[in-house]
Amino acid sequence: MKQVKTIYSPPQGHWVGNGFPVRSLLSYNRMGAENISPFLLLDYAGPATFSRGHERRGVGPHPHRGFETVTMVYAGELEHRDSSGAGGFIGAGDVQWMTAGAGIVHEEFHSSAFTEQGGTLEMVQLWVNLPAQHKSTPAAYQTLLHDEIPVVSLAGQSAQLRVIAGDFQGHRGPAKTFTPINVWDLFIQPGTHIELDVPEGHTALIVALKGTIQINGADVLRDAELASLERSGSGLTLEANNEAHVLLRSGEPIDEPVVGQGPFVMTSHREIQQAISDFQGGKFGELRH
Ligand code: MN
Repeated sequence: MKQVKTIYSPPQGHWVGNGFPVRSLLSYNRMGAENISPFLLLDYAGPATFSRGHERRGVGPHPHRGFETVTMVYAGELEHRDSSGAGGFIGAGDVQWMTAGAGIVHEEFHSSAFTEQGGTLEMVQLWVNLPAQHKSTPAAYQTLLHDEIPVVSLAGQSAQLRVIAGDFQGHRGPAKTFTPINVWDLFIQPGTHIELDVPEGHTALIVALKGTIQINGADVLRDAELASLERSGSGLTLEANNEAHVLLRSGEPIDEPVVGQGPFVMTSHREIQQAISDFQGGKFGELRH
């Protein structure tokens, strides 16, 4: 059995730009990169209600290098644009898997339609590290639309598991990843008990975004708490005490140094200095208006 190692309470929230009231449920600074590798950070935005508005809400052009950002929208709608000239919308149920790799400049805003209508925003942004040998891969996007993400029913119809990345019982998620990773999104009805198999050796992290769950018949998670599990073992059980939304991520650890500064995550201070100087020198490109 994969045992719970540590349970983390969510930290105080902060605003990213003027559009994203987030809590960083996962952070390599706070928890130690080696404990959560290959994951780096997880920001949970909302659920928050926005009134109707006209001004753009979000975060303007900023760079990234050395890792991937995975944006999962549950309510509301985002609009993004980047230095490759690409852009698009991320609506409820959709996922954007962005490989920053060698470098990208992008902006992330609420869509103008969502801003004008107002409503609830709920989303997650997960940062996934790249191994050193892939940190300079060209920047790229994968748009994973709601309809392309397989949904597996468990415990009769009492739980639904969306396979965003990796594999669950032979169902492949659409995301292409550089290292073995599972991202499973679970919606569980009250009183439902499910058993899951996570690969031996994987880091595994479970977040209760909504509801209360019990892991392995022992540890209870609620209100955006996060559990990290031992790398050893594979099986685990989840039981929902009420209607629950759970995000489970597992991945093969990348045993390399993690040196990060703001939007750059590399393996040494020298590479961070290089990233800053490349960005300032315009080598990441720019947003065209
Ligand atoms: Mn960004």
